[in-house]
Amino acid sequence: MIPYGRQDISEADIQAVVDVLKSDFLTQGPAVPAFEKAVADYCDAHYAFAVNSATSALHIACLSLGVGKGDLVWTSPITFVASANCALYCGAEVDFVDIDSATYNMSVSALEEKLVKAEKTGRLPKVVIPVHLAGQSCEMDKIHALGQKYGFRIIEDASHAIGGKYKGKAIGGCQYSDITVFSFHPVKIITTGEGGMCLTNDPQLAISLNRYRSHGIVRQASEMTHAPDGPWYYQQIELGYNYRMTDIQAALGLSQMKRLDEFVAERHALATRYNELLQEDWIELPWQHPDTYSGLHLFIIRIKKNKQGITHRQLFEKLRTAGILVNLHYIPVYTHPYYEAIGYDRKEFPQAESYYSEAISIPMFATLTESEQQFVVDAIKKPSGYQNLF
Ligand SMILES: *Cc1c(COP(=O)(O)O)cnc(C)c1O
Repeated sequence: MIPYGRQDISEADIQAVVDVLKSDFLTQGPAVPAFEKAVADYCDAHYAFAVNSATSALHIACLSLGVGKGDLVWTSPITFVASANCALYCGAEVDFVDIDSATYNMSVSALEEKLVKAEKTGRLPKVVIPVHLAGQSCEMDKIHALGQKYGFRIIEDASHAIGGKYKGKAIGGCQYSDITVFSFHPVKIITTGEGGMCLTNDPQLAISLNRYRSHGIVRQASEMTHAPDGPWYYQQIELGYNYRMTDIQAALGLSQMKRLDEFVAERHALATRYNELLQEDWIELPWQHPDTYSGLHLFIIRIKKNKQGITHRQLFEKLRTAGILVNLHYIPVYTHPYYEAIGYDRKEFPQAESYYSEAISIPMFATLTESEQQFVVDAIKKPSGYQNLF
């Protein structure tokens, strides 16, 4: 079987985890701040907070920006459900902005159109969550400019995008956003098993993110409502959660960070080969905006209808049968029954609909071998002419 993505764990990664297991602290020890510092330094962000998943990171990012009942949050429909669920956790409403036909990221023109209408009806969003699909940054300068004009805050869902760049700078530096979120799930670019992180440059947001990830408890006198009762004292000043990452996970993440650039370079080498080998008039290859350097979490091709007498669905099934665990990232969020019940009009998202009928994520991960890649290419090009190898 060839998965669409998987982790790459080295002996050094294993040793780093073993070292924590033999140490005094399995959680709330030194590995978490060390991992946070490594990511913050890499991204040139002032603050980084490790949490137990990107889903938790998105939740506390929304809470820290004051998202609550009566607020609107907008995101892309072509994303994992967590990008939208985070707003619902806060009691807010979610709406979607259609995608761009070339990058498959949130379309800036669709966003602007929707903002113009929303301003008239008094339904402007409080927060917009652009998602860097497959690792390619959204057009953050333009989204940021719209944020200034219409007064919304920005959370970058960069779950796919650590190691990528926008306008020459590492994604995560928050030049054009309030908070950036990374995921360290094993299919993503680096892993901690489960895990995520929030980055920000804003000292107020930093205090808030830190509190929300650990029960809303503060331990510094400066953050308390009155002088401490004694040396044992702490205060819960808001309703937070236990979203902390363990030191076992952080040690793995810190060790993986050392190979981040290598991982992304390997993904680019694979993408270059795919781009050469899959030059077919019925395949649309991923287009890269010149302002971006993608982390290449995913390699998404689009099957232009029936060009070789086979539908998108048939090709998908044949690849799966051949042991190539292709995937579709993503099912438009508004089509999930939970969201359907809230009520969205599919006609509002023609590009997302078209994307969903054509997209396939083919294997893309640092340890994919050349012969495995060749097998994938052959299977795509000759879907009826190959034997099942697995
Ligand atoms: C994976 C992913 C998430 C959720 O990440 P977890 O760490 O699994 O919670 C959120 N958004 C996007 C776009 C993702 O791909």
